[in-house]
Amino acid sequence: TWFDFNQLIAEVVEDLQRTTQKHTLFEDMQQTGQVYADRERVSQVLVNLITNAIKYSPHTKEIIISTRKENEEVLVGVQDFGIGISKEKQERVFEQFYRVSGVKQHTFPGLGLGLYISSEIIKREGGRIWVNSAEGEGSTFYFALPVQKN
Ligand code: ATP
Ligand code: MG
Repeated sequence: TWFDFNQLIAEVVEDLQRTTQKHTLFEDMQQTGQVYADRERVSQVLVNLITNAIKYSPHTKEIIISTRKENEEVLVGVQDFGIGISKEKQERVFEQFYRVSGVKQHTFPGLGLGLYISSEIIKREGGRIWVNSAEGEGSTFYFALPVQKN
């Protein structure tokens, strides 16, 4: 169904801000308008990316959620300034059950499913998902969705 894209993001950000006092979620939103997609599933992707940003930035505060509209696509970025991911591991983080080794399960619990599920959802919605990151500096996860799937 059609839904207001920035409205969805604002709702998710508000909900997740309540789960952490250590982090501040900033919004850098451009007017994106209505998008035709599965609202619940897109919401799940946002939750996965933002909870990762929180989990993997234990010593920094800022997380920036941005939206852009380019041609017939909306773009979302979730940026953190946390532990980051090395180049060779970035290619694997969307695999089922993949977790970066050396990342201690005790410190960062998880199953390695959030990004796999997210990429499956985004593919099904006709979009793309990717990451830009530098180890020790932080990560930005992006996804792009067509305003309306053809
Ligand atoms: P869960 O199934 O609970 O989401 P998870 O967070 O370990 O567990 P994914 O969300 O799929 O699994 O992420 C896979 C791996 O990618 C993580 O274990 C982590 O090593 C790395 N990763 C994901 N997001 C980030 C991030 N924002 N910063 C640094 N590493 C990340
Ligand atoms: Mg996760």
